Amino acid sequence: MPSATGRSRSLREKLAILADAAKYDASCASSGTTKRNARASGGIGSTEGSGICHAYAPDGRCISLLKLLLTNACIYDCAYCINRVSSRIEREAFTPEEVVDLTLAFYRRNYIEGLFLSSGIIRSADHTMEQLVRVAKTLRVTHGFQGYIHLKTIPDASAELIDEAGRWADRLSINIELPTERGLRSFAPEKSGRVIKSSMAALRTGIDASRETPRRGGRHRPPRFAPAGQSTQMIVGADGASDLTILTTSRTLYTSYDLRRVYYSAFSPIPDASSALPPSPPPLVREHRLYQADWLTRFYGFELADLERATDGGMLDLEIDPKLAWALAHRDRFPVDLNRAPREMLLRVPGLGVKAVDAILRTRRHRRMRFEDLTRLTPTARKAKPFIALEGWQPARLLDAADLRARFVRPAAQLDLFAAAPAPVSGPDSAPVSATVSAAAAAATP
Ligand code: SF4
Repeated sequence: MPSATGRSRSLREKLAILADAAKYDASCASSGTTKRNARASGGIGSTEGSGICHAYAPDGRCISLLKLLLTNACIYDCAYCINRVSSRIEREAFTPEEVVDLTLAFYRRNYIEGLFLSSGIIRSADHTMEQLVRVAKTLRVTHGFQGYIHLKTIPDASAELIDEAGRWADRLSINIELPTERGLRSFAPEKSGRVIKSSMAALRTGIDASRETPRRGGRHRPPRFAPAGQSTQMIVGADGASDLTILTTSRTLYTSYDLRRVYYSAFSPIPDASSALPPSPPPLVREHRLYQADWLTRFYGFELADLERATDGGMLDLEIDPKLAWALAHRDRFPVDLNRAPREMLLRVPGLGVKAVDAILRTRRHRRMRFEDLTRLTPTARKAKPFIALEGWQPARLLDAADLRARFVRPAAQLDLFAAAPAPVSGPDSAPVSATVSAAAAAATP
C-alpha cells in the first residue's frame, strides 16, 4: 500500500508497521508443539536444539517468534482495536510471499523459532484465511520449514480453509475478544460469540481426531491438525467485566474447547476511541493476577468458588496474589503440616509451587522435613512460613496476626530505570507485584 506521499514502502518500512501492529496480540506462546528436527527431515528449522531461545516477557508472553500482521487494514470496526476501519492510522499489507521470505530470513539468522501470523480482515473472512494459509503452506511445502507456526484463525472462514490451516500450523487461535456476549455486541458488532465458539468447537474436533491413536495393526494415521492445540485471547478492562466473570468465561473455554491457554491482554485507550470505552487502562498488574488465578484453577486444584471467596465484589486483590488472598480468608485451614498433609492441601499453601510440593513429597518419604529443608527447595519458603508447621517450626499466633496481610504488601515504589529486570511470571507463587505499570496492550486481531 502506498504511504501518505503516494510512495510504495520498502519491506523494512512495512515490517516496522506490521510488526508494531501485531504487538497487541498476546496469544503467541509456543508451548506444546511437537518436536521436529530439520536434520532428520532434510528441510530447515527445528523446534528444538541449540540456538533456539524462548524468551518470555514478565507477563509470560513469548517473544521468540516473528510476530506479524499480514495487514493492519481491516474492514471491521471493533471499537477497542487500533486497526479498525475507522481508525486513522497508516495502513500496510504484506503479500504472502513477503511474509515467507521474512520468516526464512529471520529464521536463518537464528532470531526466531517460528512465526506468529495474524491479520485484519481483508475483503472477507475466506479471502483473509486463504492468504494466511498460503503463507503456512508455502513455508512447509516449498521450503520444508519445520519451525513453529501459529496462525490466527478467522472465525467465520470456511471449514475447508480452517482444515487446511490446521494441516500446516502448529497452533491455531481464535480470539474470544471480550468475556461477555454483551461486551462483544457493544464493541465488536460484526463479531458473534456464537460463531467464535462454534469455530473453537470445530478446531477441537479436528485436534482431538488428529490425536487418536491408530488401531493396532491398522495403517491409517489420523491427519495432522494443529498439534500444539488452540488458544485464545481476551481483552481485560474494556467492557467492565469483573475478574470473576473473566475467569468464569476462561473456565468454560478450557473445559468446552480444551484450550491450551487463555491469554489476558489489558486494554489500553486508543486514539479517537468510542466514549463507551474507559479513558484509562486497567493496571497491568490486573493481567498478572488473572494469570495467577487462571493457573490456580488449572494446576492447583482451585475451583471458581474458591477464587470468588478471595475476591472483593468479583475483583482480585491487586496487592497480593490470589492464593495468598484465599489463604488469608481461610486461616482456619492452616497451618498445614508439611510432613503429613496431602498434595492437594500442600498446593494451597502460599509460596509453594507445584515443583516445590512434589519435592516435599519426595523428601518426606525418607525423613521428616525441617524449615531449613524447605528453604533449600524453594526461594519463597518465607512466604509459606505463617501457613505451615514442620519439624522445629510452628507459626503459633503469627497466623492470627491482624497485620498478616500487611506484612506481604510491599509499599508502592517508583520503578528504578537501572534495576535488574523483574523475574518472569511462573505461576501463582511468583513475588507480589506492587508497582502499577501502565498497560501496553490493547485490542486484538481477529
Ligand atoms: S479486532 Fe480484528 S477484526 Fe476487529 S477491527 Fe481489529 S483487526 Fe479487525
